[in-house]
Amino acid sequence: MSVIAPDTERAVVERVPIELLIGDRWTAAEGGATLAVEDPSTGEVLAEVVDASPADALAALAAAHDAQAGWAATAPRERAEILRGAFESVTARCEELALLMTLEMGKPLPEARAELAYGAEFLRWFSEEAVRVSGRFATSPAGDSRMLVSRRPVGPCLLITPWNFPLAMATRKVAPAVAAGCTMVLKPAAQTPLTSLAFARVMLEAGLPPGVLNVITTSSAGPVTAPLMQDDRLRKVSFTGSTTVGRQLVRQSADRLLRTSMELGGNAPFIVFEDAELDEAVEGALLAKLRNGGEACTAANRLLVHESLARPFAKRLAARMKALVVGRGTDPGVDVGPLIDAAQREKVEALVGDALDGGARLLCGGRPVDGPGYFFTPTVLADPMPEAALLHEEIFGPVAPVVPFATEEEAIAAANATEYGLVAYAYTRDLSRALRVMDALETGMVGINRGVVSNAAAPFGGVKASGLGREGGAEGIGEYLETKYAAVGL
Ligand code: NAP
Repeated sequence: MSVIAPDTERAVVERVPIELLIGDRWTAAEGGATLAVEDPSTGEVLAEVVDASPADALAALAAAHDAQAGWAATAPRERAEILRGAFESVTARCEELALLMTLEMGKPLPEARAELAYGAEFLRWFSEEAVRVSGRFATSPAGDSRMLVSRRPVGPCLLITPWNFPLAMATRKVAPAVAAGCTMVLKPAAQTPLTSLAFARVMLEAGLPPGVLNVITTSSAGPVTAPLMQDDRLRKVSFTGSTTVGRQLVRQSADRLLRTSMELGGNAPFIVFEDAELDEAVEGALLAKLRNGGEACTAANRLLVHESLARPFAKRLAARMKALVVGRGTDPGVDVGPLIDAAQREKVEALVGDALDGGARLLCGGRPVDGPGYFFTPTVLADPMPEAALLHEEIFGPVAPVVPFATEEEAIAAANATEYGLVAYAYTRDLSRALRVMDALETGMVGINRGVVSNAAAPFGGVKASGLGREGGAEGIGEYLETKYAAVGL
């Protein structure tokens, strides 16, 4: 049973501004439409937020455009202080924001708190980066002129975020954009708009001037954002979400040659070599698989384990996964919350069914949980056929397929046999193998003897169909800056 009173839950939701943030106003949609936000652990409606139209989105872009010149002219230190204030505020309100996130997204409260800490780090990190943007000064090779290179904000940005990390995916974009001097329109996922709306209010309270951050919530993402993509006032789109939608946005961006940052899907291999420490590898796999209930782009999708360890590894992993408590994220002791919706649960169930039909062995779980909400039992499958669909597409659920391999070459070839290239994990105690494997894996990120790679101070991003650009680290602010060169005659 939850130790959080229903009144507390209601109060946290009721404190969220449910309107669009356009310029200096929280405002209703043009036609007064609303959009229901569900609690995925019960299926009940938590709140109705404003459902924006294309005209609302254009008004938000107009506000961003009007604020751009003034915002670009502010002192970097001023932008830094606003971000630092927002970091302090998000940190101080951790409990309230974590509860809000758990209610709309489903993840257990400890995971929501961890996301709060991770998401807040982007505010702190980019408050530090805001004052470190530098250029260069050089003598031309002929010696007859000087070369001045400076960085300028890109201009108004459209930031589109997914539902799985409602705060961190927003701060990972908003913080570098603010630091760089860009204005923006943020469009959170329709399933989890409340955290973004609450975060936007935090930014205003931290002193962000009106118009710098505008927020539109909508049930018609495509039709509402398409006019922005065609509008001369927009200069950049930064998207986190599925590869399918990312491709559409890159196509749309071609007409006006918009700058793009794309953080897309993954199909992460988790490789356990024969020299790995088995218990550490099992714990790492649990983290890499079950962070966010498996609904993470970085989730280990395929556990490739040396044939000498595959059986004990699968057995120990199944024992650990079987012992996990599945339930409502607000209940104490819960390890795994619900999936985001019925469609996602059906997809996970179908992927498991397909693997079992192909001959995979079920070691634990394998079925949805009866009752309200979209729960699925943590599942381990041994020896799925190479053509099993769950080895080729994102599972986005608590399902771990264990596949044996014989040689390092075979493991690398299997790991790279996917269109995705976000992250890979490898467990080995051999340093030269670790370095060799790190080079050979076709991914933007690698976890060596670690099941989590995300860090605000590191460049997060993928290669191949997992995306373009990097978020976080020293690289993150560069996504929101243009390079300007001036030739100075003597
Ligand atoms: P999604 O369907 O692509 O949606 C992501 C966002 O795009 C949502 O805000 C969505 O709005 C919006 N959207 C949908 N169709 C659109 C369109 N035609 N034009 C403009 N915007 C559109 O992805 P999802 O199911 O929410 O998220 C899961 C995916 O995100 C997974 O593939 C996961 O791997 C990926 N992801 C990647 C990273 C990374 O950093 N690489 C991080 C987290 C998640 P609605 O909510 O209204 O549909």
